[in-house]
Amino acid sequence: MKIYNDMTIWMVAGCQHLYGEETLNQVRSHTEEIARYMSDQDGISAKIEYKGIMTRPEEITDFCIKASADPSCGGVMLWMHTFSPSKMWINGLSILSKPILHFHTQYNRDIPWDEIDMDFMNLNQSAHGGREHGYINTRMKIDRKVVVGYWKDAQVHERIDAWIRAVAAVKDMRSGKVARFGDNMRDVAVTEGDKVAAQIALGYDVYGYGVGDLAAIIAAATDKQIDALVAEYQTQYEVAPELLPGGARHEDLRTAARLEAGMDNFLTEGGFCAFTTTFEDLHGLAQLPGLACQRLMEKGYGFGAEGDWKTSALVRAMKVMGKGKGGGTSFMEDYTYHMDPKNPLVLGSHMLEVCPSIAGGEKVKLEIHPLGIGGKADPVRMVFNVPGGSSLNASLMDMGNRFRLLINEVETLAPGKDLPKLPVARVVWKPQPDLATAAGAWILGGGAHHTGYSKDVTTEMLLDYAEICGMEALVIDAKTEIRSFKSEMKWNDLYYTMRAFSGGV
Ligand code: MN
Repeated sequence: MKIYNDMTIWMVAGCQHLYGEETLNQVRSHTEEIARYMSDQDGISAKIEYKGIMTRPEEITDFCIKASADPSCGGVMLWMHTFSPSKMWINGLSILSKPILHFHTQYNRDIPWDEIDMDFMNLNQSAHGGREHGYINTRMKIDRKVVVGYWKDAQVHERIDAWIRAVAAVKDMRSGKVARFGDNMRDVAVTEGDKVAAQIALGYDVYGYGVGDLAAIIAAATDKQIDALVAEYQTQYEVAPELLPGGARHEDLRTAARLEAGMDNFLTEGGFCAFTTTFEDLHGLAQLPGLACQRLMEKGYGFGAEGDWKTSALVRAMKVMGKGKGGGTSFMEDYTYHMDPKNPLVLGSHMLEVCPSIAGGEKVKLEIHPLGIGGKADPVRMVFNVPGGSSLNASLMDMGNRFRLLINEVETLAPGKDLPKLPVARVVWKPQPDLATAAGAWILGGGAHHTGYSKDVTTEMLLDYAEICGMEALVIDAKTEIRSFKSEMKWNDLYYTMRAFSGGV
């Protein structure tokens, strides 16, 4: 069973009739063998389906039409085992609407130095066949991923899997629906944006609801649902005694459970994959949903606070990309700094809404505390630390003529202190290459204060995702330095401005 079992990758080999039937038979069996071998790897998250060898323009066009039309096909993997003259591919490639991975591999790993003859040379032609294929894709300005290497190499599998994971997120968001409870937090700029442009580029549809629509469904949650959730909390978390049955604040826990049940009902009935809330619009809700947002994120929903639909959709996409990896993904905010020059750090958190998928087996406590904003009853929330490990933050902004994805690789540190008075989940990280460069580049890049934080998603997955969606992507990592980062942004501005003039999104 594959991680993405509702999606397959279609693999074909480019070829031609020049070399005779025997060579074609070998190409056929080699391509089938490679597709099967890759499919059998645990590190490859979707089935790779052999779909034949392409020897004529009609076959290529037919393959591209079928791949584009079949909803189960996430993307296509193309391998030029021999030389496949690329004028044959023009019509098909101009029709193809699925992401392309050009796999530049060779059936034989090693050159058989003592045995090599012209038959071997005629069969193992990827080295130049792949170049002919590269030319036509580049000439047609087709964005695609090129992976070079031997087909049994684990590093090659990892690169292909990053693309498969990005493809799965693209496929998910092409039919994704985001529910927005209440509007944007008043006066905040970065959480705004063009929802029509987002739907064109990224596929998801943002539905706005007055919070009253949600309040009615929350009010209709049944005692049975609430009882079941309260029982679940008691088995999964360390619940504060005052929240337990018989405790002074047990009713507040039931209110939190009612919020969760109602929101879950709303999102399930509407077929949503992500949602937003805002503390400025809570009419009819008793508490700002904290626990509910945390629990729903843990189930796989995207979430953005303060009406932030872009981050909500990004968190969902990142959750799909990271599926099955076990490290977790959450909505996040750079909250406060530790500016010790010897060890500068960032403490990430939010008012309440941090997903426990990133707790990594650490103890999760269920607590109730006052919230200084929103003017509502004290909200229940999960409180936990996050263990160390490599991770990243990503943020999505509307730049007016394109969306920009900004990625910062960070090293999460195991909690050194208890933080006994902090009533929210928290993460401590050291950004790459250092706080001064990372925060400087982030600010110059117009990066949002809200992010998707992940221990599963890699920069490569996000870059593949951005490329498939035609989005700008900027990376802040160990190699970043401000001067070249600024130049890169200026070049990008020019590119996207020119693209907008030529009718691009
Ligand atoms: Mn916020």
